Amino acid sequence: MEETSNFIHDFIREDIAPGGRFAGMQVHTRFPPEPNGYLHIGHCKALCIDFGTAEKFGGICNLRMDDTNPAKEDTEFVEAIQEDIHWLGFDWDDRFFYGSDYFEQTYQYALELIEKGLAYVCELTPEQFREYRGDVNTPARSPWRDRPKEESLDLFQRMRAGEFPEGKYTLRAKIDLSSGNFNMRDPVLYRIRYIEHHRQGTKWCIFPMYDFAHPIQDAIEGVTHSLCSLEYEDHRPLYDWVVANVSVPSRPRQIEFARLGINYTVLSKRKLRKLVEEGLVSGWDDPRMPTLCGLRRRGYTARSIRNFCDRIGVAKVSSTVEFGFLEHCLREDLNDTALRAMAVLRPVKLTVTNYPEGQTETVEVENNPNDPAAGTRQVAFSRNLYVEAEDFLPEPVPKFKRLYPNGPECRLKGAYLIRCTGCVRDESGAVTEILAEYDPASRGGDPADGRKVKGATLHWVDAATGVDAEVRLYSNLFADESPDAADKDFLACLNPDSLEVLTGCKLEQMLGDAKPGADFQFLRMGYFCADSKDSAPGHPVFNRAAALKDGFKKG
Ligand code: ATP
Ligand code: MG
Repeated sequence: MEETSNFIHDFIREDIAPGGRFAGMQVHTRFPPEPNGYLHIGHCKALCIDFGTAEKFGGICNLRMDDTNPAKEDTEFVEAIQEDIHWLGFDWDDRFFYGSDYFEQTYQYALELIEKGLAYVCELTPEQFREYRGDVNTPARSPWRDRPKEESLDLFQRMRAGEFPEGKYTLRAKIDLSSGNFNMRDPVLYRIRYIEHHRQGTKWCIFPMYDFAHPIQDAIEGVTHSLCSLEYEDHRPLYDWVVANVSVPSRPRQIEFARLGINYTVLSKRKLRKLVEEGLVSGWDDPRMPTLCGLRRRGYTARSIRNFCDRIGVAKVSSTVEFGFLEHCLREDLNDTALRAMAVLRPVKLTVTNYPEGQTETVEVENNPNDPAAGTRQVAFSRNLYVEAEDFLPEPVPKFKRLYPNGPECRLKGAYLIRCTGCVRDESGAVTEILAEYDPASRGGDPADGRKVKGATLHWVDAATGVDAEVRLYSNLFADESPDAADKDFLACLNPDSLEVLTGCKLEQMLGDAKPGADFQFLRMGYFCADSKDSAPGHPVFNRAAALKDGFKKG
């Protein structure tokens, strides 16, 4: 692994060094997704930081479903999250937890705070809450702050027992009503909610707020470093206050890093869910989605995504990364590993008029020029072929080095040299067939006499053995560069042309039974992946993962 370092690693090194806050302890992190959607590429950054940091220091990382909030959660998401993390190559061993499993302990810690005079039951209505909140110059107020702790204890226990309606009472920490940090102005720790919890059922009608529950969950699990995104920075004083004031078994340290943003996409489960629910994409795993399952279906490899996360780095300042850089990381990986294959996406017939009718032979084609160990394969060749329609012009334009009547000699990849002699048209004048002659002495694609070949090397598919396929070409889901911006209606930013479906494409024979999920480089056309859902024997479907040309410019 490449030696990486960043400010988080620096903090941790200090912490575990002799005399440090966690001297001699094993580094322990956690990844806490809320199971209300599928993981997206932003979560990958957090995953690589949480699991990757633990790995780097020989530590461990827990997986914890943050189901503290009783809002809609689903076992479908819980399972998908685990599958995605394993696919990326991370593992939590037996340390899989649910935040809601700590509800009883969290409740006990709340009682402890009341006992210590550090929390009280407040009865401000939501309107009063806003009114008494104060501002930078005015402290907040609550007439209930000095309620005797016996009374708070009694009320809080009765809140739990379900004696009061929603909104009637809250439990608040007694910290500092004049703090410049509003999170410290006696934040709410518990509220009443009559809502069924997906794991706890109706056992609870009071639920802890994230800011109270999260540090407690971290501390119970023995987490040393709670790594989270920047929006929690202002909550860190509260995090520290909680672990300092309840008798949790450890005192984890929270460190924040910048969230990942990518241009031309949205990274918010709420927005992604909307796209799914409105039927604007085919599902969470639509290959245009920035979800892990979408990227995987599109053809992204786990290694390319982890490389991407490593290389964008970890910083404290938010920045938007180009989608092109993610594609660049994929190309880099597939360029080394993907099998080369020939597929004609917009086919037109080509007849080699001087090749004997009824004859067929096989020619040898390299599987991957970048990987000598990948070897070669045999591809059928005969008189009737398909080539890419755009490789022929009835009238050449300047610099066109492909097929046109009496044009230059072109190389059919791995097979023979041909020269176009003409074409056949239908009544409307459209070209239906290209005619060419081959040089029988050029088997393998090189002239016997060493003459210079002036035309291009073209990909082709044998008509008799080739397989029909559907190919899906994708471009950005959003036409706007920053659809995630707060002032934009992201749905209005959708790109109406993000999907182009081609049917009647011609693939070389072996692609007909490509394993779903397998990646290939289609010669001259890009990187393609056999669709894991819709591809079936006899009906191959391929997704374009990335075009061949790298639009990403460094620097
Ligand atoms: P979303 O807005 O997409 O729902 P979230 O932060 O609410 O994101 P969680 O499931 O709570 O989603 O996130 C789990 C972890 O992933 C958190 O620690 C969070 O900080 C991190 N995370 C989420 N989105 C990003 C992102 N774009 N970049 C980096 N980390 C992220
Ligand atoms: Mg969240």
